Amino acid sequence: MAKIGADIKFVQALLQQSDVAGIPTETVYGLAANALDANAVAKIFKVKERPSFDPLIVHTSSLEQATSFVEAIPDRARVLADKFWPGPLTLILKKTDRIPDIVTSGLDTVAVRVPNHPLTLQLLKSIDFPLAAPSANPFGYVSPTNANHVNEQLGDKIEYVLDGGECAVGIESTIVGFDGDDVVVHRLGGCRVEDIEKCIGQVKVEVNSSSNPTAPGMLDSHYAPLTPMVLGNIYELMEANKHLNIGVLAFQKAVQGVGRNHQFVLSEKGDIDEAATRLFTGLRQLDTLNLQLIISAYVPEQGLGRAINDRLRRAEAKRN
Ligand code: AMP
Ligand code: MG
Repeated sequence: MAKIGADIKFVQALLQQSDVAGIPTETVYGLAANALDANAVAKIFKVKERPSFDPLIVHTSSLEQATSFVEAIPDRARVLADKFWPGPLTLILKKTDRIPDIVTSGLDTVAVRVPNHPLTLQLLKSIDFPLAAPSANPFGYVSPTNANHVNEQLGDKIEYVLDGGECAVGIESTIVGFDGDDVVVHRLGGCRVEDIEKCIGQVKVEVNSSSNPTAPGMLDSHYAPLTPMVLGNIYELMEANKHLNIGVLAFQKAVQGVGRNHQFVLSEKGDIDEAATRLFTGLRQLDTLNLQLIISAYVPEQGLGRAINDRLRRAEAKRN
């Protein structure tokens, strides 16, 4: 098992030696390596068993640090960075040669973000290179939102997980790209589309893009538990699947007719942001129960609800 602790100096030393480490962010835990070192980045792909066509997000301590490895920053990218960084927003920008091709799967753009977590910001400020860091889980599985999640799945492959507690947002970053005059959301995530639009006006949302080469990682099936999952009207699905050993991922209220220990309620207050912080923990918990099917329903499609519904849709897609 990996060591879990708050020793930033130890993590810094690992990263300087081209090794990887688990790090906390406000979205999900990342598996980090020096983004300027192709050998170090190759270890991320190996540990995660991530296909090489899925590019990584590069984490930096500030917009200034990012200017050393991206070309000119579009005005609206700068406005968004000023407003939302540090925070759960990733910007797709033209890269310079400093970023190795393995990081971007050969694309001429790089995904960049300043994460909003005190330990990781301190770590980033203490090193003179940015960190490539995809979620610290095997490729395609539910993302980790605490240090134990990382240890459970990658503990025998990595040495250390920097413990920053539970992730405050709990769902991956919103990814935004710039295509001529258009601003395009490639992944719904922790930064609300409504807030982005308040800041820079209307954007396009193009997230169903497993066939879109500008976002090779947005596979239809992703973020999925091992147990099959189905979405719809919970009571109808319970009736249709009553011969199976089922579990329920409910938004606000546990349902009648399924044992309470086979249910996970995302937010008893009905608070979408709280539901986002608990989504992956809930999917993991249900996934340990040897169920035949997890039944769930879409949450209200607003704010972080759009990102939650996107993850539910991809989790369900694994079945088909
Ligand atoms: P994550 O697995 O959370 O680190 O997110 C990585 C995702 O960011 C990938 O799966 C892609 O969808 C997206 N991404 C990363 N780099 C780029 C890029 N240069 N252009 C478009 N999308 C990117
Ligand atoms: Mg991931």
